Amino acid sequence: MSDTTEPTGLRVRIMRQGGRAAQLLSHLCSGAFTGRLEAAFDGTPTWNGRRSCLLLSFDVDFPEDADVLPQLVEQLASMQGKASFAVVGRWVEDYPDEHRAVLEAGHELVNHSYSHPELVNVPGRFVSRRDDLNPRRWETLSIQEKAAEIAQCQQAVQGTLGVDLAGFRAPHFGNVDPRPLYPILNELGLSYSTSMLATRGRQLGVPVMEGDVVEIPVSTCPQHPLSSLDTWHGLYAHGGWHLQDFGEVLAQRLRTADASGGITNIYLDPKDVSRIDMVPVFEALADLRDDCWVATYSEFATWFRAECAT
Ligand SMILES: [Zn+2]
Repeated sequence: MSDTTEPTGLRVRIMRQGGRAAQLLSHLCSGAFTGRLEAAFDGTPTWNGRRSCLLLSFDVDFPEDADVLPQLVEQLASMQGKASFAVVGRWVEDYPDEHRAVLEAGHELVNHSYSHPELVNVPGRFVSRRDDLNPRRWETLSIQEKAAEIAQCQQAVQGTLGVDLAGFRAPHFGNVDPRPLYPILNELGLSYSTSMLATRGRQLGVPVMEGDVVEIPVSTCPQHPLSSLDTWHGLYAHGGWHLQDFGEVLAQRLRTADASGGITNIYLDPKDVSRIDMVPVFEALADLRDDCWVATYSEFATWFRAECAT
């Protein structure tokens, strides 16, 4: 479980290339990929006594995501367990009440950098009311600049809401390798990262201890295993791969994970949740109530660390 050596060869080239051809290829091969992902869980002990685990998260990237947080929290009120919200420091400063509503409902906030580099408006898809976004690509930042982004988010959230964040998600993590950041996270007292796509490491979705940091890989789409199961993939990429059935696909992912004793780690963009039929998701969660552990990242990381220590 601790081997994170990168896979090599054709699979990696396909993963990195992205684009429609790779997606089509992944769709054609999805059975084999998904089978391999699920096989990675064979023999995995139960998740805190449950057969499967759901880590549900939301990336609050834009002010428009912050706008809907109070309604979203209300929508989640009947769900067993709590969710995690990856937040951008500067938006926490500008929209404190919306973020406070998340904390007050018992959910967790996660460090998602101070200014979310590589955040841009895309005419025709989504244009924020803010025109002062940070378009600089995360991967072009030096390690010191990345450290400053992470530290500044910690300070912004502590200064605005009075809480210390326990973990980190890299902006546009699907394209990045989070491992050089682990020493920085350690130094800042952040105990976990959830910044790697399940298909990127050989752990294939199984969380792993990286020194003192728990890396919790993000799940891929059951039908397109090279993509994370997020709202960008479901509603926007290539016109939206799951415009009609995204809620069904999310529910399918939960049921598949439960059948194989697996873990589901997904994020959605709050501003897009109203475009998803969430009924199948909540129905699946109700069906799996006794089998699926719904946890925040902190709860999960604390449990996982203790499991690894025994
Ligand atoms: Zn898909």
